[in-house]
Amino acid sequence: MRYLFGPVPSRRYGRSLGVDLTVPKTCTLNCRFCQLGPTRETTVKRTDTPPIAAILSELRDWTAAGGEADFVTASGSGEPTLHRQFGEVFRWTRGETPFSTLLLSNGTLFDRPEVRTDAALADVVKVSLHAWDQTSFEAVNRPHPSLRFDVILDGYRAFRQMFAGRLDVEVFVIPGINDATWQMERIAALVQDFAPDSITLNTAVRPPADGSVLPCPRERLLELANLFDGKAHVSGNESKSVKGKTLSAEELAELVERHPLSLAALAAQSGCTESEIRARLAPFCADGRIRLFENGGRVFAGPNETCR
Ligand code: SF4
Repeated sequence: MRYLFGPVPSRRYGRSLGVDLTVPKTCTLNCRFCQLGPTRETTVKRTDTPPIAAILSELRDWTAAGGEADFVTASGSGEPTLHRQFGEVFRWTRGETPFSTLLLSNGTLFDRPEVRTDAALADVVKVSLHAWDQTSFEAVNRPHPSLRFDVILDGYRAFRQMFAGRLDVEVFVIPGINDATWQMERIAALVQDFAPDSITLNTAVRPPADGSVLPCPRERLLELANLFDGKAHVSGNESKSVKGKTLSAEELAELVERHPLSLAALAAQSGCTESEIRARLAPFCADGRIRLFENGGRVFAGPNETCR
């Protein structure tokens, strides 16, 4: 499988089959906290690659082989709405499977009506808001130069007007950059304006693109969550138990290429020990496809940036 990965053990969405619409990593942003490493060059140009027919063909094969998931999720190595036909994943899944659909987007293209129309095909849409004005947006997300913070917020408001499904918002908290009370109060006021169904405060649990980004202590996250009128919750730790089929070595490598995970989480997901995970990943480390690295006292498996 070239475009599918997982099912990923998602903290919020259970078993999430990832559909990677942006191989290799292509994004409108270069977020300091990105778990996939730096974006080489940000872009806002939408394209038709990879071919949607090849992606749907993999989905067909996966379901024919008995694949099961809670969500089929447009996500992957960058911003999925950069693919002009991302909505086809939701149309196909809705028509051919019993699974729910999820869009994980940074929301930067939601000012475009055609993006909002296709995003509204998903059952659940999660967008991001980590800043309160253009300056803080640039500090946290290092966006493509054409992107304007106010225009993105207008897009969120317009989307809420037309979308009857569940709209989730993620706020990523970076100590020293957006964790002051007054900063989070301003983000909370903006979030209220487009009335999401749920708000999640997240912080760095996996190694970030910018090594200086530290995790926000849980106690502080809980304090900040109170600024959202009781509507926000704090993200849990990395998911460690997802029921599903045992992943093969190749499937493990495909998963961590798009979604770096600790060996402990991988072992729990695969029903084996961390040593066995190391052994299964060893050939992929040897050929440079993935790498093992330490962060916060834990060992992670993730993409080898030099191969991207
Ligand atoms: S965190 Fe998401 S939006 Fe930000 S650079 Fe990474 S892939 Fe792009």
